[in-house]
Amino acid sequence: MSLHSTQPAAAGIYLHIPFCRQACVYCNFHFSTSLRYKDDVLRAMALEIELQRNYLGDTPVQTVYFGGGTPSLLTADEILRLFDAIQRTFRVDELKEVTLEANPDDLNIGYIRSLRSTPVNRFSIGIQSFRQPDLEYMKRAHNAQQAEAAIKGAQDVGFEKLSIDLIYGVPGMTDNHWRENLDKVRQLQIPHFSAYALTVEERTALHHAIAHNKAVPVDAAQAAGQFGILMDTARAMGYEHYEISNLALPRQYAIHNTNYWRGLPYLGIGPSAHSFDGLHRRAWNVSNNIVYTKAILEDNKPSREEEVLSPFDHLNEYIMTSLRTQWGCDLDHIARNWDETTATVVEKGSHLFQEKHWMVQDGRVLKLTDQGKYFADRIAGDMFLSGDDL
Ligand code: SF4
Repeated sequence: MSLHSTQPAAAGIYLHIPFCRQACVYCNFHFSTSLRYKDDVLRAMALEIELQRNYLGDTPVQTVYFGGGTPSLLTADEILRLFDAIQRTFRVDELKEVTLEANPDDLNIGYIRSLRSTPVNRFSIGIQSFRQPDLEYMKRAHNAQQAEAAIKGAQDVGFEKLSIDLIYGVPGMTDNHWRENLDKVRQLQIPHFSAYALTVEERTALHHAIAHNKAVPVDAAQAAGQFGILMDTARAMGYEHYEISNLALPRQYAIHNTNYWRGLPYLGIGPSAHSFDGLHRRAWNVSNNIVYTKAILEDNKPSREEEVLSPFDHLNEYIMTSLRTQWGCDLDHIARNWDETTATVVEKGSHLFQEKHWMVQDGRVLKLTDQGKYFADRIAGDMFLSGDDL
């Protein structure tokens, strides 16, 4: 089996801003709560953009995403400096979406207005919940009032492209509380939102607190029930559940993330950022601000590792990501990009799940049902292929 490849139509750039004001208990992203090296890291990131000038070739950059960490800790000038480096280095004539992840406590009117001088045209706001007890359980830096004020402020200043993050399955959050959070999305006319179950990752403060009986454990049954409420409520409110964790009003999909799922290339800049060349190579930067900065500023060379994907890795990734989306896993796409035999084996592998009503086949496309979405990762894992299957 081999993978046939074509020149990608678009690319994305992800910038990881590795700083936060305080640590949320559940978080296992890479960040530092000390801002001491912020200037150095940003200088290194601007230089890394130039050092990676060949990574995307001639492919036009369609999206830029400032993620983290907390990108709203950057001033408008700092954002502009990073963006200038991108503009000098890559093709941006087809740029459509520039997203800034922002925390509500940073989004005061003065700051939001200052961002009008930058190319940022979309916010992804880390609301997590509109309820104070949930925010306290998660040790978020903002309060419930700031959550709502941040959204209204962004809308007042004219940022129409808005997304918010919400978390369900938080101990103490009843089903009705979760419904009220979802209803806020409707009331505030937010065009896009992401919803995640609270998960307890190892090496997080939450994991430690639960292990030492200092925090109420997370209940998987509560989270599953609230995932069901999410599907029903979002549908009733007119949102498309276009990816397991992402919901949008018609045609308001996040372009950056959708391009990830379509397998388009992206370049990750900053500590811990990941890159994919759209073909066979995945790379990731070191998750350490000092090591990252020194490697670039002193040795002129990013500290990163790389892996080469086999055709099976690539196929399995396609199965996993496509099944999570409303567009599903396209057997014709597999036949075109791998071969017909592979498409037939994948189709056969789906029969068991179709019998359980976890999946339906719509022509040549396999899609998860609502019931199947509860087990998306498990189903995809069971459908993965290896050399023994062909
Ligand atoms: S603000 Fe975001 S990145 Fe920072 S600790 Fe909280 S969840 Fe993690």
